[in-house]
Amino acid sequence: MTHPTQHVLPGNLIKQLAHRFKICAKCKQNRPPEGGIEMGPERWYCAGCWTLRATKTPKGTRI
Ligand SMILES: [Zn+2]
Repeated sequence: MTHPTQHVLPGNLIKQLAHRFKICAKCKQNRPPEGGIEMGPERWYCAGCWTLRATKTPKGTRI
């Protein structure tokens, strides 16, 4: 007769939030998926990093 207590709710909420967020491949931060871009199965850029990358595209870049 073990019933889960209501105390687990905050933890679940955090888990749900963490699951909703994505980890940016660049800044390694949990970010909301809005505005981000998927570059591959395990490569996702947050809106901030993507904007930075998109605006920072010089033509004659040296490697
Ligand atoms: Zn980022």
